[in-house]
Amino acid sequence: MPHRRDQRCSLFWFRRDLRLADNPALVAAAAEGPVAGVFVLDPSLWGPAGDNRRAFLAASLRSLDASMGGGLIVVSGDPTVELPRLVESFGAAVVHAPEDFGPYGRRRDDAVAKALADVGAQLRRVDSPYAVKPGSVLTGGGTSYKVFTPFFRSWTKHGWAEPLPAAEVDWVEPPTASSGVAAAIPEVQVTIPLPDAGEDAAWELAEAFLRERVGAYDDARDRPGIPGTSQLSPYLKWGTLHPRQLLDRLGSSPGEETFRSELCWREFYAEVLSVRPDSARQAYVDKMAGMEIDEGPVADERFAAWVDGRTGYPMVDAGMRQLAGEGWMHNRVRMIVASFLVKDLHIDWTRGARLFMDRLVDGDLASNSHGWQWVAGTGTDASPYFRIFNPVGQSKKFDPDGVYLRRWIPEIAHLPDRSIHAPWTEKTGAPAGYPPPIVDHDEERRESLDRYEQHKQDWA
Ligand SMILES: Cc1cc2nc3c(=O)[nH]c(=O)nc-3n(C[C@H](O)[C@H](O)[C@H](O)COP(=O)(O)OP(=O)(O)OC[C@H]3O[C@@H](n4cnc5c(N)ncnc54)[C@H](O)[C@@H]3O)c2cc1C
Repeated sequence: MPHRRDQRCSLFWFRRDLRLADNPALVAAAAEGPVAGVFVLDPSLWGPAGDNRRAFLAASLRSLDASMGGGLIVVSGDPTVELPRLVESFGAAVVHAPEDFGPYGRRRDDAVAKALADVGAQLRRVDSPYAVKPGSVLTGGGTSYKVFTPFFRSWTKHGWAEPLPAAEVDWVEPPTASSGVAAAIPEVQVTIPLPDAGEDAAWELAEAFLRERVGAYDDARDRPGIPGTSQLSPYLKWGTLHPRQLLDRLGSSPGEETFRSELCWREFYAEVLSVRPDSARQAYVDKMAGMEIDEGPVADERFAAWVDGRTGYPMVDAGMRQLAGEGWMHNRVRMIVASFLVKDLHIDWTRGARLFMDRLVDGDLASNSHGWQWVAGTGTDASPYFRIFNPVGQSKKFDPDGVYLRRWIPEIAHLPDRSIHAPWTEKTGAPAGYPPPIVDHDEERRESLDRYEQHKQDWA
């Protein structure tokens, strides 16, 4: 039951940790007495997030509020203004929150800490959205890792805490709307079917994955036609689940080992971004900056065809249609569509990354920017620039029976397996209603390699 408002309490500031279980910062807050649970709808983050992510966040907040017995306080505005105001209105001295390592989050938290100090209060940062807090795993020379595999080894050796049970919290009653402090959780209309929000929904999915699919994850995770992956990314993004809770449940089968390493990629990219905040939008490898890219009306038309899923390459189009239809895309296909944009259409990776951030329910700056940079050949562990994904070859290899293609491209669903990956190879050409390829992959591949050679000469 929500607590009365006249007792001295602390604040818990929810951000990317929308859960009650395994929340050490919340446990720390609860140990000090009644807690006012707050979420600040910050226009700097709410504004640029696309509708899909906003809608899922709003649903996650509603679910969190319900699990708190209606105790979530939502305010809208600049956290450096809103939090000191709330602290004063509740007579609190401490705001608890897990630490944020993103470029904006870090700046914001430092500014909030200062604003709180000005009113005699304190921001206490405990824990993080990661199993191993960025900055905890360093090379022998004390620097941050730049390559995944040695990071993974050290990360595994470092280990993580056991998950905690749900905190017993004495929630402080939210102020009434008439007090001018509270704002409603916004309603956001979207055209996609959102995943169910909240801890129970996350656990239902996680349990089913751990019970039925993690064993085969090693092979199945690359097959977009089957539900071989966990689809837990939106819950990890908002901290409805903490990676610790999943890691704790993993054994040592090949599927579980691979799943553990995929969770580590998320941690690795957070680590890299925390050390190089500029890499959210610029080449991580300096010498790869400034590769020749295409701009102008033709590039814009090609970009639009890519966005709309009408490039004439079925695997690329199926991926982009899945993104439009679900706000999510299979990892293998994210790599294929990203490679096509950068290396077949010669369009800057940041343009694709922005589109992804606008549409993905799981859009996460670190994983997205570095996923793109990996493909573009400008990031950590980058697949070398000259390794260019063949959209037809990838399609045949990972969706051999065309299940994924048929699901997303009804215009070609009737084609036999032999031609569905490259419909223009049918004697009668691509079927009516489905475009011929907008570019020739072999030609564009050569063009990319030429540009790369030229770039190498320029930087030599
Ligand atoms: C161009 C590109 C953009 C991407 N953008 C995002 C993004 O905005 N948000 C995001 O969460 N992931 C992103 N990824 C990584 C990956 O595609 C998704 O995490 C994954 O598809 C989510 O599906 P899942 O939960 O079923 O994954 P699973 O295969 O079940 O993996 C479990 C979890 O591990 C993490 N993970 C798996 N693969 C990666 C990876 N390559 N990099 C980082 N974390 C990983 C995710 O948290 C994921 O939920 C991107 C990858 C690429 C190539």
